[in-house]
Amino acid sequence: MAALDIVRIPVLSDNYVWLVHDPASKATMIVDPAVAEPVLEAAAARGWTITDIWNTHWHPDHTGGNAAIKEATGCTITGPAAEYARIPTLDVQVKGGDKVRLGQHVADVWDVPAHTAGHIAYHFAEGAAIFVGDTMFAMGCGRLFEGTAEQMFANMQKLGTLDDATRVYCAHEYTLSNARFAVTVEPDNVALAERLAAVESARAAGEATVPTSIGEERATNPFLRAPSAAELGRIRALKDAA
Ligand code: ZN
Ligand code: FE
Repeated sequence: MAALDIVRIPVLSDNYVWLVHDPASKATMIVDPAVAEPVLEAAAARGWTITDIWNTHWHPDHTGGNAAIKEATGCTITGPAAEYARIPTLDVQVKGGDKVRLGQHVADVWDVPAHTAGHIAYHFAEGAAIFVGDTMFAMGCGRLFEGTAEQMFANMQKLGTLDDATRVYCAHEYTLSNARFAVTVEPDNVALAERLAAVESARAAGEATVPTSIGEERATNPFLRAPSAAELGRIRALKDAA
């Protein structure tokens, strides 16, 4: 089976929309379209027709492009059943344990509540890729707007069961801010200090720093590395106040 082509589309101040194309079936999917125009342009530039949108959660910077992209393409919109009331454009409602398909590629839906109450992620086990929305970021995790530290800790533990090589497609370029905070939590972590330096150079050169990988996060993400929900909650509160 041909691998998926995955393209990063930077939009708004720090959002990443993911354009995912299956060359075999020509199915083309968008994860979390914050806006429509740049997404439609990115697909058209490659000669791809958008067939699907997959949403991870209801926040407007993840769903704002739904209606206009559907209007332009007639695509099918899949997203969290638990947030249906807040994503009126949904065609297909899914929850943890369900499978969704892009051509021959199948993704498992994970429930990852905490940032929002119905937040989901999409895991392509075969392609070693997971689309996590605002649940995990490079060296960070999402804010606990509608859930608890216990829930986010469980999410981090579950992500931590994936292979090191699994690529993590998150929805924001928060890496530099996260790295600067992370070194205050783990001042003796050499891998983290090295990653901060690499990220500073990359950002100074205007380069994106995501996707990340489970292996990199296992070594440097204080939220994934937190030994307990209480510790995760403590450092999340510190980051919120930073
Ligand atoms: Zn969000
Ligand atoms: Fe967001």
